[in-house]
Amino acid sequence: MRKGLTLMELLVVMSILATLAALLFPVYLRVRARFYEVNCANQLKQIGLALRIYAQDYGRDDPYVVTYLGKLYPRYVPTKDLLVCPYFQKLAPEVVEEMHQFSQARWGGRPWNSYDQVIPKGIDNLARKYPDEIISFAEVYAVLGDRIPIVWCAVHRIGCPSFLGPSPKGRQFCAQYCTNPYAIIPPEIKGVHPIPPGILSDLNRPWIVLRWDGSVYFKLSGGWEMHFEEEFLEAMKGKINDKGGD
Ligand SMILES: [Zn+2]
Repeated sequence: MRKGLTLMELLVVMSILATLAALLFPVYLRVRARFYEVNCANQLKQIGLALRIYAQDYGRDDPYVVTYLGKLYPRYVPTKDLLVCPYFQKLAPEVVEEMHQFSQARWGGRPWNSYDQVIPKGIDNLARKYPDEIISFAEVYAVLGDRIPIVWCAVHRIGCPSFLGPSPKGRQFCAQYCTNPYAIIPPEIKGVHPIPPGILSDLNRPWIVLRWDGSVYFKLSGGWEMHFEEEFLEAMKGKINDKGGD
């Protein structure tokens, strides 16, 4: 009568478990990444709704009315957390809190946000750079209508959050997670610089964009060398289409 496993049986069991774990770990990573993406998209959707209501309250029907997403809090979004990408929140909660405080002290009570607005500034920049392609917001709006992109997730696409510059903890965070911290990026190209390598610029991360109608567009991969403006230009040329999810 045997009382337990032999050494050989134990080794076999252990190797099977190890193989299983090795097989499942990438799946776990993908599921977790997807979880953050979905949460990010959900937050953008809520921001989209809030932008609509804000615009209505000011008698407008375009995204120009809000120049800074922090303005949506507290009247149009219930919590500051909604303005920060969930992945970023998870990665650096203390940096997020510090940036909220910094923002409140410096810009009069508006909470900081990690989502970047691309309208109207993005369009204006593009209009200057590609005068034959894009002339005005009104024309882009005429072509794309409500599908026009207005906010995108800075964490999922831009890479190093350059706006963390003013905060000491933010600088430290940038230095830790990005190989190209804000300090060495010239201010004039802030927001349109190439994606620096680092955790926050993982190319497998999707480009998550909010449209003016409140829907959210996923672009699942992007070119390493692409700049924001080129991506955006491509989008303006009609590459944002109904294949993008909601
Ligand atoms: Zn995000």
